[in-house]
Amino acid sequence: MKETLTNRKIWLNGKIVPLEEANINILTPTSQFGVNVFEGLRCYWNEQKQQLFAFRLEEHFKRLRQSVKMLRLEDRFSDEQLRNSFIEVIRANDFREDITVRQTIFLDGTGSWSSKGPVGMFVAPIPKGRAFGSKQGISACISTWERINDGNISPRIKVGANYINSRMAQMEAIENGFDTAILRNNQGKIAEGPGSCLFIVRDNELITPPLTASVLESITRRTLMELAEKELNIRTVEREIDRTELYISDEVFMCGTAMEVVSILSIDRLSVNDGKPGRVTETLKNIYFEVARGDKEGYEQWLTPIYPEAK
Ligand code: PMP
Repeated sequence: MKETLTNRKIWLNGKIVPLEEANINILTPTSQFGVNVFEGLRCYWNEQKQQLFAFRLEEHFKRLRQSVKMLRLEDRFSDEQLRNSFIEVIRANDFREDITVRQTIFLDGTGSWSSKGPVGMFVAPIPKGRAFGSKQGISACISTWERINDGNISPRIKVGANYINSRMAQMEAIENGFDTAILRNNQGKIAEGPGSCLFIVRDNELITPPLTASVLESITRRTLMELAEKELNIRTVEREIDRTELYISDEVFMCGTAMEVVSILSIDRLSVNDGKPGRVTETLKNIYFEVARGDKEGYEQWLTPIYPEAK
């Protein structure tokens, strides 16, 4: 994977600029208070088709504009502007590998944390492979930190400031020797990971917390539910999950745009499926990659080709 930052181009407020020139004023409410809403998106390079496919672009833009609305920011960017800036900056970088793209609408100017505008936007593509490399799965602990909830800072809003909660949980997990954390909500029920949603498999049933359990309305979660139903004939049950249920689950996995699908092989040091990735998880993961990379027929509506024609 090419991880160099040289010659990287960013879309900032209508212009494509070198990374070194993509700067924001220190007095903006975004730099002081984290008032920015964003999406992390992925594009998959298909070597055979010589095409880069953006995955579920329209769903990400819909959620981005919902975040703008919930935070009462100026609604300055149309879907078309979001799409055009996204495609324009990736083409300008001429990426022909898997990338992640951060598309962020931020509170610009020198107002306070309660101002509505002016808003700005940047789109930053970054080459990126798998989140955990070739690892078969990861370890997790149940966090001592509680997930934020809709009554204080809603996890439904994908706002930069929310990630302080994720940071606390993730740092605690790493310092205690785990790869990541699983947070519970204010009812003590399982919510999600610091940057991912969670599924369990029990007796061939796929279970995930409902959207009211203090979770982000994850696009990968919805994608996997659809794939499980269409491709494996498994209907997902959305219900509360207890901590101890994780200990006795047949399989546990996390999912998200960045994480994709990752098996959890132990929780609080108790092994899941004898420390091996489970059958349902692995099958779903393979289907997910096939679909996202443009290798599976019937899911073209989820893919946006970046380049005008295959080269
Ligand atoms: N929960 C949190 C807290 C996240 O940050 C993410 C990543 N965006 C997810 C879940 C997964 O969401 P998605 O599948 O839309 O990437």
